Amino acid sequence: MQDPTTDEAIFPFDNSYALLPERFFARLPPTPVSEPSLIRLNESLALVLGLNPERLSAPEGIEVLAGNRVPQGAEPLAMAYAGFQFGSWVPQLGDGRAILLGELIDCEGVRRDVQLKGSGRTPFSRGGDGRAAVGPVLREYIISEAMAALGIPTTRSLAAVATGERIRRETDLPGAVLTRVAQSHIRVGTFQFFAGRRDEAGIRVLADHVIARHYPEASDSDNPILALLGAVIERQAELVARWQLVGFIHGVMNTDNMSIAGETIDYGPCAFMDSYHPDTVYSSIDHRGRYAYGNQPSIAQWNLAGLANALLPLIADDQDTAVELATEMIQSFRTRFEHYYRTGLQPKLGLAEARDGDRELAQDLLKRMAENGADFTLTFRRLSDLVDESLRNDERVSGLFEDPAAFDEWAIRWRRRLGIERRPAAELQRDMRSVNPAFIPRNHRVEEAIKAAVERSDLEPFEQLIEVLATPYEDQPPHEDYAEPPRPDQIVRETFCGT
Ligand code: AMP
Ligand code: MG
Repeated sequence: MQDPTTDEAIFPFDNSYALLPERFFARLPPTPVSEPSLIRLNESLALVLGLNPERLSAPEGIEVLAGNRVPQGAEPLAMAYAGFQFGSWVPQLGDGRAILLGELIDCEGVRRDVQLKGSGRTPFSRGGDGRAAVGPVLREYIISEAMAALGIPTTRSLAAVATGERIRRETDLPGAVLTRVAQSHIRVGTFQFFAGRRDEAGIRVLADHVIARHYPEASDSDNPILALLGAVIERQAELVARWQLVGFIHGVMNTDNMSIAGETIDYGPCAFMDSYHPDTVYSSIDHRGRYAYGNQPSIAQWNLAGLANALLPLIADDQDTAVELATEMIQSFRTRFEHYYRTGLQPKLGLAEARDGDRELAQDLLKRMAENGADFTLTFRRLSDLVDESLRNDERVSGLFEDPAAFDEWAIRWRRRLGIERRPAAELQRDMRSVNPAFIPRNHRVEEAIKAAVERSDLEPFEQLIEVLATPYEDQPPHEDYAEPPRPDQIVRETFCGT
């Protein structure tokens, strides 16, 4: 049903994907739910998008966010895509439980998709019910908003709505719909969908759309398609470096979960590491550790090679030349990643200039952290406070190490290196704090918030957690306990995608 009640649209849609050829998607509206109620509206995001929070949280707005009413200007559709899941080719995936309502231009001039996730079955649902449970919806809400507050490119969460319906998983669970906002929902797997069908015209149309929408500078290149590939590689190299620097583990880096725009997308069994170890895996379905923390850069490169492969026919007429150009481009991922990782790690250690030996110094700290089960986030955060020598509080950091001497030995060399730069302690501390967050969405806190919401309909822990995570780089004395790692009995060892 179109919205006839007011002149002004609740979403000022300006759609471009819906203008692409019909084989790119299936047109259908979301499936209504029985009793929608608002769990949370992200008011500050609504304002950035130029939307009216009051209207969105009024009954009419909630109906839209639940998928019960198709708002004016929407052209609802489910996008087609394919993908490599855990290395295996799946020629058709697509939005099996999501509907793109439309696109709008936000207050900063950026085009953004508005999508409902958990909005019912589509032609791409295969055996699924098209629905999402409250737990995973709140998880995505919390973690995506935490990522945004950390300054890491990500899809955003505009709203979570309870459906009033139960869905069948291992047990019966309450259902919910998430309104997700992204620069676009185009994935590496979207290109692979057309490549898998040898639909060169489709790849061309998609590439032109992506260049115009996300990488306009590529159109000035002699070889725009190769420039597009390079630009996507660049954004992913930076994105994955940013993940590594905060200890984020995506968990399901399938090519259908890798955004062409370089945003973190599809929060499933993702998690932030507590104690540091490169082999860390949380996902219950990642038995071999394919998507372990330390593998994320290589997997990103592997996924991008998949994108390159899909683009090959357009890179050059002669396929040997195309392969040569694409291979060289894919190989550049490592250097680009290393650049972002290194230049991100330097300031975490308080180093303004790059010098010989810095890399070894950083690697040595990480090695000692891994050997001693040191908490990733707190080690760096508290390191920021050691630069004020008058406080003499080294044990705040060394106490995070099983063998405190492992840190103390390293700290001698670190201080010697810091001394070369002679930066005033206050300035150094301020700069280090601005890159070493105090607050990350720790698994035990996320689980606690979800449990309270699902089992006791208590949204207080969820609201509180969101508030704390909104300013991750600032000390929040009343909420210091949110910075703490889990006690042994609170450790969450496994996370689930909950689909
Ligand atoms: P994900 O694991 O969420 O990245 O999803 C992988 C694929 O499975 C995508 O094509 C999803 O649309 C589809 N999918 C996931 N959960 C459901 C569900 N409950 N119903 C229908 N399709 C689903
Ligand atoms: Mg996905």
